[in-house]
Order: sequence, then C-alpha cells, then structure tokens
Amino acid sequence: MRDVLTQCRDQFAFYADEHRKAGKVEKAETNERFRALADRALSQPGGGGDMGDFQSAVGAWMVEVFGEQIAMDPLERIMRFLEEALELAQAEGMTATEVGRVVDYVYGRPVGETFQEVGGVLVTLAAFCFRREVDLKAAALTEFDRIDSPEMRKRIFDKQAFKRAQGLTSDGGFRAEGGAA
Ligand SMILES: [Mg+2]
Repeated sequence: MRDVLTQCRDQFAFYADEHRKAGKVEKAETNERFRALADRALSQPGGGGDMGDFQSAVGAWMVEVFGEQIAMDPLERIMRFLEEALELAQAEGMTATEVGRVVDYVYGRPVGETFQEVGGVLVTLAAFCFRREVDLKAAALTEFDRIDSPEMRKRIFDKQAFKRAQGLTSDGGFRAEGGAA
C-alpha cells in the first residue's frame, strides 16, 4: 500500500511539473493537490486527519504485518471484519442464538452491493457510537495505536497462524473445507 501511495505521489509530482512547464496552470494545481494528499497519507501513519489517511495508514500497516498476499485477500479482510463485528455484538450482550436469528434474516433477503453496504456499516456503527457515547474516531485511533508496536505486530502475526490452524483464514482452507473448526 505504501508502495502504491509512493508511486501515486511521484506520478502526480511528475504530471504537476509537466503541466506547469506546458503552462497548464489548472491541471498543474490539481496534480499538485493530489501529490500533497498522497504525501500527507504517507507521512501520517495512524495519525491521519481524515478517513482517507486512516484507511491508507491501516493498509500500510496490514501489508507490513501480514505481507501482500494475506493483506490483499478480500475473503481474509471480510472475515476479520466479521470477527470484530461479532465481538462487538458479544460485548453488548448478544448471544450466539440471537446472532443466528440475524444471520437467517439477512441471508433470507436479496444480496446487496459492496459500496452501499460499506456505507450502511459505517452509518450504523456511528449510530451505535452516538447512543453508547463512544467517540468513534478516538476508538479507531486508540486501537490503531495499540496494535502498532513491534510486540503487538508480532503477536497479531502469530495469532494469524493460530487462526490458520483452526481453518479460520482464507489461506487455511476456510472456503474449500467449509471450516475446520
Ligand atoms: Mg477484537
């Protein structure tokens, strides 16, 4: 992810320069703005000023901890998200049976579209945080700070191996075997 950002930044810088030389002020300014955005995302791991920076910083962290293959596997990413969503439901006192009733309801309805469902996830999470008086942004930055130490990076990497042994990772035969655990 960092490599992609670096590549983007360098390309925007190149085109900003080219447009400037050609006298295309507006295009040069647009590219300069994008260059600055990429630069900011690169220089603020974890302490980003907006969601884009946070997303980039998490992406860079993930690739560094797990390596490109696991980090960029969509099944792996959605499994880890589901795990955290269920942990939140559990922390709020929902039982496995109650979760199962929600699963039956969702899977009995038409399949949604990824972009819109991501929006739904964040809107409902913000609504939950509003009701429970949890600062969503503070929670996100606190958690990212917690997992970003060298010791935690190693622990999280090791935990991944444990999950793999349980058949609960995308490269641990989760889909092929329907789960070993
Ligand atoms: Mg958790």
